[in-house]
Amino acid sequence: MYPSAGIYGFRLARRFASLGRDDSRERVRRPGIGHGMNIHEYQAKDVLRDFGLPVPRGLPAFSVDEAVKAAQELGGPVWVVKAQIHAGGRGKAGGVTVVKSIEDVRKEAQRILGSTLVTHQTGPHGKEVHRLYIEDGSAIEREFYLSMLVDRETSRIAFVVSTEGGMDIEEVARTNPEKILTFTIDPAVNICPFHVRLVARALGLEGEQQKQLSPLLTHLHRAFVDKDMSLLEINPLVLTKDGQIVCLDAKVGFDDNALYRHKDIVALRDLSEEDEKEIEASKYDLNYVALDGAIGCMVNGAGLAMATMDIIKLYGETPANFLDVGGGASKEKVAAAFKIITADPKVKGILVNIFGGIMKCDVIAEGVVAAVKEVGLKVPLVVRLEGTNVALGKEIIAKSGLNVNSADDLDDAAQKIVKAVKETV
Ligand code: ADP
Ligand code: MG
Repeated sequence: MYPSAGIYGFRLARRFASLGRDDSRERVRRPGIGHGMNIHEYQAKDVLRDFGLPVPRGLPAFSVDEAVKAAQELGGPVWVVKAQIHAGGRGKAGGVTVVKSIEDVRKEAQRILGSTLVTHQTGPHGKEVHRLYIEDGSAIEREFYLSMLVDRETSRIAFVVSTEGGMDIEEVARTNPEKILTFTIDPAVNICPFHVRLVARALGLEGEQQKQLSPLLTHLHRAFVDKDMSLLEINPLVLTKDGQIVCLDAKVGFDDNALYRHKDIVALRDLSEEDEKEIEASKYDLNYVALDGAIGCMVNGAGLAMATMDIIKLYGETPANFLDVGGGASKEKVAAAFKIITADPKVKGILVNIFGGIMKCDVIAEGVVAAVKEVGLKVPLVVRLEGTNVALGKEIIAKSGLNVNSADDLDDAAQKIVKAVKETV
C-alpha cells in the first residue's frame, strides 16, 4: 500500500508552512495523492448521503448513452456533467459543465468521456476520463471551503474552513491566510454547539443557515470517524439561492491501515486511477510513491528516503520515486522493489542507499543482484551500503560482476549518481 499516514504524518502546520517548497516531498506526504485510498466524487457523495449529508441528486455514467439516460431520469432543468477522475481542479480544466438541455448533456458527455484532463493535481500527463457523473444543477449563492483531516500534532481530527470556496486552498493559504479557520475536535466531546458557532461566524452564516451547520458538522465528523477517512474535502460547500447548505464536491481519502475493516470502501477502488508501479508495490507491501524525476531511489527508512530525495535535488537532479523498503524486507521484496524502479522509463540512474540496522546489507545486495540477473541493468547504479553485514553485502555485489559504482557515504553517493546521469543524457 501507500506510505501509511501513520508514519509520514501530514501536519496542518507543515502543509501550510511548506507551501512553495520542494514539491516532491509534498507529493509524498500530501493526502489525497498517494496518501490512502481515494475514491471518485460520485462514490464519495454516496458515502456522505448514507450519513445523512446534503448532496445533490446524481447518477454515474460510463458511456454517452448512460449519461443521457441519467439526465432523463434526473429530469433537469439544469444538469452538471462532471468528469470523474481522482484529481481536483476539473472545473478549470473543462471537466465540469453546467447545461440546460439533454442535447447538451449528450454533447458534453461526448466531449469529456475519453478526453484527457490536465489539472494542477494530475501532473503534466493528465488523466483520461472513463466515468462521468450527471448531477442536478444547484443555484449557487455562495461557495465555501470545508475539509477535515487528521492533525498529527494534536492527534485529533481537524477542520479547515474558509469563505474562499471553489479555490485552491493552498493558494488561499498563501495569499489570504487570515481567511482560513482551523480547529480540532476533542474526541471525548465530538462536535458541540461551540464548533457550530465558530464555523457560522467564519462563514458569515446566521439563523436558518447556522442551524443547518449543526447536523452538517456532526454527520461529517461521524462519517470521517466511522469510515476511517484520512481526508474529507468539500470544495465547494455551497449556500444555494433557496437557503440550503449543500456539499457540491467531495474528495475523500481513506487510511490504508484501516481498510481491512471497510470492505465496502475497498470495493470502490478504481485501479485505472492508480499508478501501475504503485499498484505493483502495494502487492509487496512496499512504501512506494511514483514521482516525475530521473533518479530511482531504493532506501530503507522513511527519513533516510526523504533525505536521499533532498540530496539528489541538492546536487541538481530529481528523484523518480520515494521508496522505503522497510525494516525486515526479504530478498524477494528487495528484488521486486528494484524491478519496479528499473521498469520506469523515466529512470536514468538508480541510487541504492541502505543504512542497515534491522535491514541487513547482504539481503539488499542479494535482492539487487537477483533482480538485475532477471531484468538486466541499462542505467548507471550507485550503491551505498552501511551498517549490519556491510562487508558481506559489498562482497556479494563485487562477486556478482555487476557494473556497480560504490559509494561510502550519502553525499558521495548522490554526487556520483547525479554525475553519471548527467553524462548519459
Ligand atoms: P473541481 O474541484 O474538480 O474543479 P467541482 O466539483 O468543485 O470540481 O466543480 C467546480 C465548480 O463547478 C464548483 O466550484 C461549482 O461552482 C460548479 N459546480 C459543481 N457542481 C455543481 C452543481 N451540482 N451545480 C452547480 N454548479 C456546480
Ligand atoms: Mg472542487
